[in-house]
Amino acid sequence: MMRTEKLYYADSHLAEFRAKVLRCEALKDGRYVVVLDQTAFFPEGGGQAADTGTIGGAKVLDGKEKNGEILHFLSSPLEQNAVVDCRLDWEKRIRRMQNHSGEHVLSGLVHGTYGYDNVGFHMGEECMTIDFSGELTWEQMLELEKRANETVRANIPVRTYFPSAEELAVLDYRSKLELTEDVRIVEIEGIDRGACCAPHVSETGEIGIIKVLSCERHRGGTRVEVVCGMDALDNFNARQQSVTEISNLLSAKRGEVSRAVEHLLAERDELKYTLTAAERMITRLLADTVHETEGNLLFINYSAIALKAAAASFAADVTDHQEIMKNDVAQRELVNLLVPKCNGMAAVFAGDDASGYRYIIGSRTCDLRTKAREISTALSGRGGGKPEMIMGSCSAKADRIREFFSSSN
Ligand SMILES: [Zn+2]
Repeated sequence: MMRTEKLYYADSHLAEFRAKVLRCEALKDGRYVVVLDQTAFFPEGGGQAADTGTIGGAKVLDGKEKNGEILHFLSSPLEQNAVVDCRLDWEKRIRRMQNHSGEHVLSGLVHGTYGYDNVGFHMGEECMTIDFSGELTWEQMLELEKRANETVRANIPVRTYFPSAEELAVLDYRSKLELTEDVRIVEIEGIDRGACCAPHVSETGEIGIIKVLSCERHRGGTRVEVVCGMDALDNFNARQQSVTEISNLLSAKRGEVSRAVEHLLAERDELKYTLTAAERMITRLLADTVHETEGNLLFINYSAIALKAAAASFAADVTDHQEIMKNDVAQRELVNLLVPKCNGMAAVFAGDDASGYRYIIGSRTCDLRTKAREISTALSGRGGGKPEMIMGSCSAKADRIREFFSSSN
């Protein structure tokens, strides 16, 4: 077994190369594992995912390093000893390098300023998450972000090297490892020196913008979400699009959408208040139209809004309305108003056959607490309360509820 020549260490910007196929084996999952004499495909490591692209026209799906060999996982086989053209998905790789190098800049600044370590790093689809070992406020983070972007502007070279065991022993760097061999150092002079196996940009200017999206407390430290370079541009555009849509919907300037939303919420609260008052009033009007009875009174899906029509016409069937009652203040109020009008039970149900009903039942003649079990059994529900009023929920359908209350006088 021989070590694959790692071209990505000599030149992190090599996107196309030729190589010889040393081995190609079929895997049980339908993929093929290929080993080349040299490769620019970075296998996963240091938080960075494996490069994709093509080798000899075959798709590179994944990569892994094992015993010094770089394994490429391909969609189709290649012939042994063939010399093949290889091409990285460069856009993907350069974006990953922008993000990863940006992470080093920020981690270096956090370490240099506060002494906190990067204790967790994940490169996700949307952004990177970095966990620092100490607490940082949003204001401190914004200051660090500013300095990170000044580092980008200064266009500082990103140097990578493998120090000897003796050099390594006296070298101060982040995430100091127990290893003394093959430790690769990524150094951004004056900003950061850390151990890392992944390919990086050549100068900090290549990173583009370093943008912190969020910063929150996490397990005694801080978790930040960060996005760099072209990914940051995409992120900016998506946000811009979203704010523009909101501003169009609210007919407000882009910079004033939060005030427009505040205004909208205040208006909504006022409408809710007015609606509740109107519902209570209509509930009282409705109750006035109900004739006294010796038996039960049942309302299913009563809604004050629906009853506006009923109350106006007085001739409507007020015992069953199709609108859904959302306000249980009105539901309770209706029960209270109906109780003096019947000698049986005054029941108001809200909901629908598919998702079930919430009910409130009142009575001035029978002890509902002792009746609760009978009601629960008959309507497949649960509930309880006081002798004069019970509430609960049930899964019985409207027809079954009607049947129960017409026969249970
Ligand atoms: Zn790294």
